[in-house]
Amino acid sequence: MRVAQLGSGTPEVAVVAGVHGDEPCGVRAVERLLDERPTVERPVKLIVANEKALERRVRFVDEDLNRTFPGDPNATTHEGRLAHELVAELDGCLTFSMHSTQSHADPFAIVNAMSERTTELVPRLPVAAMVETGNFAEGRLFSEIQTIEVECGLQGSETAAQNADRLTRAFLTAVDALPGDTVTRELPVFRLTDVIRKERADTYEVFVENFAEVEPGQTFAAADGDEQVAAEPFYPVLMSSNGYRDVFGYAAEKVDVLQSTGTAD
Ligand SMILES: [Zn+2]
Repeated sequence: MRVAQLGSGTPEVAVVAGVHGDEPCGVRAVERLLDERPTVERPVKLIVANEKALERRVRFVDEDLNRTFPGDPNATTHEGRLAHELVAELDGCLTFSMHSTQSHADPFAIVNAMSERTTELVPRLPVAAMVETGNFAEGRLFSEIQTIEVECGLQGSETAAQNADRLTRAFLTAVDALPGDTVTRELPVFRLTDVIRKERADTYEVFVENFAEVEPGQTFAAADGDEQVAAEPFYPVLMSSNGYRDVFGYAAEKVDVLQSTGTAD
C-alpha cells in the first residue's frame, strides 16, 4: 500500500485507488495529483491500495479486497491483512474510492446508504446515478469507513482514466480541498434489491442496458442460450456478461431523483 498526502495536518478526506488491481484508472488520477501537487485548502490523504495486485494486473492476489473488510492483522490472505491496514489508515476520513467496471461506460456513484453527506456531495460529482447497496454492502470498504465509491468507466479504458481524474477533482472541490465551484446535477438514486445469479456456462449474454427499466416478461440475459426472463420490473445495475464469476449483476429499484439546485457555493 502506498500512502501519501497533499497539504499538512491530519487529513479528514482521503482518495483511494487500486482496491482492485485490474482497475488502473484511479491510480492514474492519484499519480497525477502527486505529480502536480496542487495547493490544497485542507489536507488530503492519497492511497494506492493493492499494489501487489496492480503489479500483477489482477483483481486480487488471494481474495477480493472489497469483500474482505474489516480484515484482520493475522489473516492468512494478503487482502485480509491489507483490509485491516487500510481501515486503520482511513480511520476518520471521508473516503473517495475509485473503481472501473465491465458493465457501464458512464460514471456512477455507489454508497452504503443515503445520508445528509452523500445527498449533498454526490450530486456535485459528474456522475449519472447514485446506487445504494443497502443489504449488499457486506465486506465492502464502506461497511467500515464512510466512503463514496465511484465507477469511473470501462476497465482499462483511457476514458475511465480521464473520468477518474475529473471525478477526483470534483470530489476534492466539493469537500473544499481544492478551490472553485461544482455544478449540482439532477441525480436518480437506485437501491439494490437482488443479486442476479448465473449458472455455470460457456457463454453468457446480457440483453439490457444498465439503469434502464426491464419490463416483466422481458428476456434480460442468457447462459449458454438458456434465457432468463423478468418476472417483476427492475433496473439492472452492474450487469455484464463476464464481469463477475457467478453473478450477472444486480437488480435495483429507483427510489428517488435528487433535484438540481444550480451552482453550489
Ligand atoms: Zn473495483
